[in-house]
Amino acid sequence: MDKIVSLCKRRGIIFPSSEIYGGIGSSYDYGHYGVLLKNNVKAQWWRALLQERDDVVALDSAIIQHPRTWEASGHLAGFTDPLVDCRTCKRRYRADKLEDGQCGEKPSKCPGQGPNCDLTESRNFNLMFQTTVGPVQDEGSTVFLRPETAQGIFLNFKHYLQFARKKPPFGIAQVGKSFRNEITPGNFVFRMREFEQMEMEFFVPPREAEQWYEFWKQARYDWYLKLGIREDHLRLRPHDPDELSHYSSGTSDVEYLYPIGWQELEGIANRGNFDLTQHAEFSKQNLEYVDTASGERYLPHVIEPAAGADRATLAFLCDAYDEDQIDGETRTVLRLHPALAPVKAAVLPLVKKDNQPELAREILFDLRERIQVEYDECDAIVRRYRRQDEIGTPWSITVDHQSIEDRTVTVRDRDSLTQERIAISDLAGELERRLRAPWRSPKLGSD
Ligand code: ATP
Repeated sequence: MDKIVSLCKRRGIIFPSSEIYGGIGSSYDYGHYGVLLKNNVKAQWWRALLQERDDVVALDSAIIQHPRTWEASGHLAGFTDPLVDCRTCKRRYRADKLEDGQCGEKPSKCPGQGPNCDLTESRNFNLMFQTTVGPVQDEGSTVFLRPETAQGIFLNFKHYLQFARKKPPFGIAQVGKSFRNEITPGNFVFRMREFEQMEMEFFVPPREAEQWYEFWKQARYDWYLKLGIREDHLRLRPHDPDELSHYSSGTSDVEYLYPIGWQELEGIANRGNFDLTQHAEFSKQNLEYVDTASGERYLPHVIEPAAGADRATLAFLCDAYDEDQIDGETRTVLRLHPALAPVKAAVLPLVKKDNQPELAREILFDLRERIQVEYDECDAIVRRYRRQDEIGTPWSITVDHQSIEDRTVTVRDRDSLTQERIAISDLAGELERRLRAPWRSPKLGSD
């Protein structure tokens, strides 16, 4: 993880937030390449749900919702983690994750195991951030920053039956920030207090719930594989009965083998009709679906695939990170799926003269109509290749002396390191063909 954190900082992908004030615990900013990378992750998620299907529609709901939302959803009463304080070092820990914590005095020990540890009894700590709306701070103005995007979807279910003219089975998908006052955030962007989620609620007739649960578990697992995550680093783990929420008849996590071990990347839950039942009761609205043809009426059951955009981005980064040896030097390379790579191609004149920059810019302007490209003329060509390798650019296009004579360029492949000469007129078509081609991590078979 240290190597990934350091690469992310060096190349401005992700770095600690508010650094000029000494940072603010476990808060991160995404720089230029990080924004491009995370945007690609989110775009692939939207693509899989919206573009490649016709039964899912999109939503972007407000972060601050009516406070009754969180009473109905159960978050106000139950969205808690068990908290303990250490009376000696004054630190706070999650009582159920003491094995992941460090004693404040003896960091090699877990909390509770140091000679002077003096832990309090555990008590429940609500993870929702509270604030007030409007200029008067009284009880009536208390609101919460959403701890998940899902509830905004349930609040709008009725609208979508009308606007979107959808009937179950159909899904509503949303991407956006969520906020949790985590007791022990950490492990880079794995656990933050402010993070981005990609969630979908798929509303189905009750009798079809089990079948759709099975469908979405597989579909979401396959999404990560298709985007290049190695199969031996990905697994679907069904929750044990004692891990399930009282309303869920089944939940499975897609887990990734991060450098910190197997951890949740996404949860897929069969939530029954718990959420719609609760919101119907608290809002006094009828949220049933009525089939106009058959007259059948029911509260749909819900299958929820809930993913984290930051955790997914981190998994793609971990899976892509590699080092190899070229000419006796260690090269750091991100072997990202081309669809996720922040920059698809770099256009590099070999020298800063002889009309090469002019031709390189002509190529740049043509390519950027279609894909994310970057121009770089500073430093020796090998150093420029290394910079592109570090941000995972799959192809580097070099304009050289021959390019001026015959309008061809070389295309260097990040992974195989082959250089192929291609006519400038064929370049855009060739790169688009490569971008669409199925892709397999070159790390497969080598570990
Ligand atoms: P965990 O058990 O790790 O706290 P969770 O089961 O509470 O996660 P969910 O409520 O199912 O998580 O949220 C769905 C997804 O949102 C998670 O799979 C994860 O990818 C992401 N997520 C949840 N909490 C955080 C966080 N604090 N920082 C970054 N991503 C998060």
